[in-house]
Amino acid sequence: MDLMEEQLALRGVQLEDIASIVFDLQSQYYPDLNLATCLEAVRKVLKKRDVQYTILTGIALDTLAEQCLLPEPLQTIIYTDESLYGLDEVLAYGITNIYGSIGITSFGYLDKIKPGIIKDLDNNTINKVNTFLDDMVAGIAAAACAKIAHAQTENLVSGNHHENQD
Ligand code: MG
Repeated sequence: MDLMEEQLALRGVQLEDIASIVFDLQSQYYPDLNLATCLEAVRKVLKKRDVQYTILTGIALDTLAEQCLLPEPLQTIIYTDESLYGLDEVLAYGITNIYGSIGITSFGYLDKIKPGIIKDLDNNTINKVNTFLDDMVAGIAAAACAKIAHAQTENLVSGNHHENQD
């Protein structure tokens, strides 16, 4: 298991949870899409350095808040997931941006409907802080959606059925 997969698993998120969100969102556009392709897209997103730094930062802030180790007023703001804070979403843009505007659109949608694990994280607040993590997960899913959309479009344009974009 690589570092990102391990970090996410420690916080209760499996890559399959993220892949299934991607599948639900993208399979309506690409009927041939399968879960394995979605999982592969999630893994590719997690290989990007910008993404890794963003996730490490978000998880560290959640964990420090959980242990009541942040300075006030930040401790209370992050611990209570104060709705006007908004930096959790801003940080997630560091993930959604990597494959262009489709990622940003998908992130907005996921942030609104909170499917699957995103909702679970949002609801899991007993001795848990997931203020950043829900947005990190939505960001990863959104970027993977964008990656799939770009790969499919490339196939249409070039007639090439091999995915060649990192
Ligand atoms: Mg949040």
